[in-house]
Parts: sequence; C-alpha cells; structure tokens
Amino acid sequence: SLEQIQNFGGKYPKQLWYLFLVEMWERFCFYGMRGVLAIFMVNELLLSEKNANLKYGAIQAFVYAFTFVGGIFADKILGFKRSLTFGAILMILGNGLIAIDPHQFFYFGIALTIIGTGFFKPNVSSMVGELYKEGDARRDAGFGVFYSGINIGALLGGALCVWLGKEHSWNLAFLAAAIVMCIGLVIFTFTKKYLGPIGNSPIANLSKGAQLSREIMVYIGALICIPLIFVMVNNTRYTDLFMYIIGPLALLYFFVQMLKEKEGKVRQQLIAALVLILFSILFFAIFEQAGGSLALFANKNLNTSLLFFHIDPNVVNNGANSLFVILFSPLLGLAWLGMAKRKLEPNTVIKFGLGFLFLAIGYYIFFGTRWFADSHGKTSLNIFTLAYLAVTIGELCLSPIGLSMITKLSPKHLGGMMMGLWFLASAYGQYVAGLLGAGMSSPDENASLFDKLLAYTAGYQQLALYSVAAGFIMIILSPFIKRLMNGVN
Ligand code: GLN
Repeated sequence: SLEQIQNFGGKYPKQLWYLFLVEMWERFCFYGMRGVLAIFMVNELLLSEKNANLKYGAIQAFVYAFTFVGGIFADKILGFKRSLTFGAILMILGNGLIAIDPHQFFYFGIALTIIGTGFFKPNVSSMVGELYKEGDARRDAGFGVFYSGINIGALLGGALCVWLGKEHSWNLAFLAAAIVMCIGLVIFTFTKKYLGPIGNSPIANLSKGAQLSREIMVYIGALICIPLIFVMVNNTRYTDLFMYIIGPLALLYFFVQMLKEKEGKVRQQLIAALVLILFSILFFAIFEQAGGSLALFANKNLNTSLLFFHIDPNVVNNGANSLFVILFSPLLGLAWLGMAKRKLEPNTVIKFGLGFLFLAIGYYIFFGTRWFADSHGKTSLNIFTLAYLAVTIGELCLSPIGLSMITKLSPKHLGGMMMGLWFLASAYGQYVAGLLGAGMSSPDENASLFDKLLAYTAGYQQLALYSVAAGFIMIILSPFIKRLMNGVN
C-alpha cells in the first residue's frame, strides 16, 4: 500500500532505483535524438544554420509542450502508469521509423517522439514525488539521485548517438535510441509491481466500459495530433502560432484549477510554484543553447583537443553537461547538507537565483572563448568545456530543486498538471532558445569561421547579462515568494 511505500527506512525508497533506470533509458533516447538534431538537419537535410536553429527550437518546444498535455491526461484519465507505457511505445515507433530511413521519415518520426515524450517524461518525475510523504526531508535528495539517472542516460545517449551518426550511419543512431527505449519499457513493466497504487488510473471507480472508452479516446486524440505536429514542425510559422496559443491556454487552465481550490494556503503555494516556473523559462532559453547554437558552434568553431585527448567537440558538447551533473550532483547535495547543519542552507528561491548566477558565469566563459581563437576562428575546447562546468552548477541549483519543489507545492490531484506546467516552461525556454540561437547565427552563410565565432560569442555575452539580471531579481524577490510557500522549503 501507499503507506508501506512511503514509510520506507534508509535514505531512498527502493522504487526510486527502478524509476531511475526507467527515466535513464528514456533520456538516453531523448538526448540521443536531441544531440543529433541540429547536426543532422545541417549536414544531411542541408538546412541553413539559421533554419536549423529555428527548427531545433520548434521541435524541442513541442516535446516539452506536450508534457503539459500528457500530465493533464495522466491526472484525469490514464494515470501515470498507462501514460508511461503509451508514451514509450510511441517513442519506440518514432525512432524505429527514422532508423529505417532517416531522410524519408525524419519529421514524421520526430512527431511520434514528441507525443510519446509528452506522455512519458513528466509522469516519471511525478511518481518519484509520490514515493514521499508530505514533509519528508529525504525528497530533495531523492530527486538529486533521480537527476543523476537522467544525466547518465543523457550522457550515454547524447554521446553515443552523435558518434554513431557522424562516424557510422544515421540509421544506427536512431536504431540505438529505439532499442534503449525498449529496454526502458521492459524495466518499467517490472517496476509497476512495486509501485502499488501509485500511478493507477484516477477513474478506476468507473465501470470497465466507461474507463476503456475514455482511455481509447485519449489514444485516438494523440494519434490525430501526429500529422498535425508533423505539419507544424515542418513550417516553423505554425510553431509560432502554437506557442502563442498553448501558453495562455495553459495559464487559463491553471488559474481555473487554482481558483477551485478552497484553501488559501494551497492557492498561495500554487502561485509560488507559478512564479518559479515562469523564471525557469528564461533559464532554459539560455541553457538550451546547448542543443542548438552551441552544437553548431561546436561543429565548426572548436579545436578537438581536450586536456590530453582528441575528441569530437560535438561529443563534448552533448556529454560534458551530463558528466558534470553526475559528478557534481552528489557534491552539491553534501554542500547543501553541510549548510543545513549550520542553518545556512539557502531556500529554494535563493537557489534559483544562484542557478542564474552560475549560468551567467558559464555564458561569460562561452563569450570568452573568442580570446582563445586562432586566426581561422577555431577556439579552445578546454575553455568551452569549462563553461559547461559553471552552467551545470547553475542547472543543479535550479532544475532538480524545481522538480522536487513542484511535487511539494502541488496538491496530489493537480500533480500531473503542475509537473506538465514546469516542463511547459522548458518548452517556452526551448522555443526562445531557438529564436535566440537563430538571431546569433551569422546571417551570411558564407561568412568566415572567424565572423561566425564573433557573432555567436557576442550572443553569449548578451545572454550572460540577462542571466545576471534574473539572478539578482530572484534573490530580491525571495522573501516574498517564500512567504507564499507557507513553510514548504
Ligand atoms: N535536463 C533535465 C531533463 O532532461 C531537465 C530538462 C528541462 O527541464 N528542460 O530532464
């Protein structure tokens, strides 16, 4: 029963490790795709860098936008468990299709993956949240571990798929993603046994027939979306339209749900969560240059020597962040714990502020790579990697803390929606990331590498500045937001 699960002894519930593995393989698949996206579009589909940036942003935006839809349908109809299974199957089909013929099926497969991730991604995090009782102090640490799982998957997927694609064949890259997603699905099938009531269908009280017909409607609705997304991804003008509409709709839905809550305390907590969610948009808009402009920057403007090795800069671009998360997430956990012992641990809002300040340091370093360039416009992979270290510390102050915070501040019946909203913010972040990246890429495709370097790094300087500003605003606002959180920390 739920009681038994939540009353676990020791530091972590055992279900956490299963969900860790499930999410790890899903992220392998997802980051595998993300890692090859921009490169594949430029090298194989022969898109200009500007268009590749825009399309990258659009695809990523759709992925995260559908987590909002996936979260709501999980709350209302499917439950987390079924939602996950359905999502996994779509992701397998999507990647499998691209593996058969990358040029032919690319956008169609991507559309499948987008919907699949929507049903999958937010709901794993929500289930992790449900392993803990309200007020259980072990929750943040659990999300820290979970976040490492995300990044082990991201590291393996991001590095392996781009290497397979560039060195062997793109078919293999996508086949690898499809295979690991199968592994994830199999592991999840075993995991379900240990989850008890967590993630069961919220409409289990209805008759079997009524349940089934609602479920089938969700599946059919999802399938109908696939061609729509296909069209929208193909024409980024539709993406713009979609992004103009989904955000306001989501906000409206949020406010309706919030006003239905009777307790003032719950409403205030939801508002606090919303403020943090809104700030995270800017964070991810900057952070997510990683898959877009930074991937293209790495593709052309970096030398290949990292410390004593030679390595493809795109492998570093896709892998360094995750590797640093895996290495530093436990250390940061210890640091917070050490501070907590001395009653010095910053609250969630201040941590968000710190997240922005570290992000800023990272982007100032990306900017600084221009001082290390040779006359051809190739610059230091070492410095570039150092920037990722700072960016990663920033991410660790904000992203896992954000997941945990969402599960703490949301009442249970709105958990999926709120997690979806958290990732919808990432969708806007991704979307803006694409626009920012496109704005930085030099308009002249034939510009020299050196001019491209100057254009991209000037952009990074600008982003660093935004980030500093956001960090200070967050810290100044922290006492007010903290009050709305009503003791949740
Ligand atoms: N890197 C994290 C993940 O993949 C966070 C992504 C996000 O929220 N944009 O889960």
